[in-house]
Amino acid sequence: SSLVEMKNIKKDYYLGETRITALKSINLSIQNGEFVAVWGPSGSGKSTLCNLMGLTDNHTSGTLLFQGTEVTSLSDNQKSEMRNQHLGFIFQNFNLIPVLTALDNVTLPLLIKGEFEKSSINAAKSLLFELGIGDYFLHRPHKLSGGQQQRVAIARALITAPDLIIADEPTANLDSENALKIIDLMRKINISKKTTFVFSTHDQRLLDRVNRQINLQDGFITNDSKADKKNNDN
Ligand code: ADP
Ligand code: ADP
Repeated sequence: SSLVEMKNIKKDYYLGETRITALKSINLSIQNGEFVAVWGPSGSGKSTLCNLMGLTDNHTSGTLLFQGTEVTSLSDNQKSEMRNQHLGFIFQNFNLIPVLTALDNVTLPLLIKGEFEKSSINAAKSLLFELGIGDYFLHRPHKLSGGQQQRVAIARALITAPDLIIADEPTANLDSENALKIIDLMRKINISKKTTFVFSTHDQRLLDRVNRQINLQDGFITNDSKADKKNNDN
């Protein structure tokens, strides 16, 4: 079955009396192993879509299935368990803990899950080496460049071996050279570890790196390259 399935998903926010419909009628399914870009201008609904897929916000109507389970049937605790077990997150501001070394940032999710063991340190180090920053494992984030910090954040997302990594604008604070490097690293991991990635971006230059792009405009999907391909094949 699909990893994520959205059927007629709508998302409203309220600012006082004013309703803002951020997502209007979203239909999509994400399969295991995909590497997907959600692309659109600021305000088109990318973050909202990421938050729903990452089970960090609730939709207003429609059906959202995560690994076949209807998300509205889950309690907040069950959702947070689902996030801990199956999801990883990468953020635009990296969100590393400033007082912790790169290594300790990477092992933190295991501590939180109660799954930290002696071998976790080596696992974290080898992830950092795989991501090209092994030599910096004792550095604190402020000693690292943006691109290096994002690599640490990728290692932190990977340490729990999630099925799906959601990255909301992971390259927004990087120059274009580093942006491409980060996307290429995520793609490398997508291929080697079969981790599914969904990332959002407003940067069209990243789109030739993905095998599926979903374009958002004003809360609607205006183009889904996978759906188009299917239609063309028919
Ligand atoms: P993007 O990530 O593409 O910039 P967002 O998902 O952040 O788009 O926003 C989509 C729309 O929803 C925008 O009009 C935005 O102002 C609105 N929006 C997003 N988050 C909130 C919120 N917490 N409260 C009210 N409106 C919001
Ligand atoms: P991005 O474009 O990178 O998604 P934004 O700057 O649009 O980020 O939004 C940053 C945060 O503010 C998000 O958590 C979003 O939900 C919230 N937000 C966005 N638009 C609004 C809004 N109109 N009212 C309240 N909160 C908003």
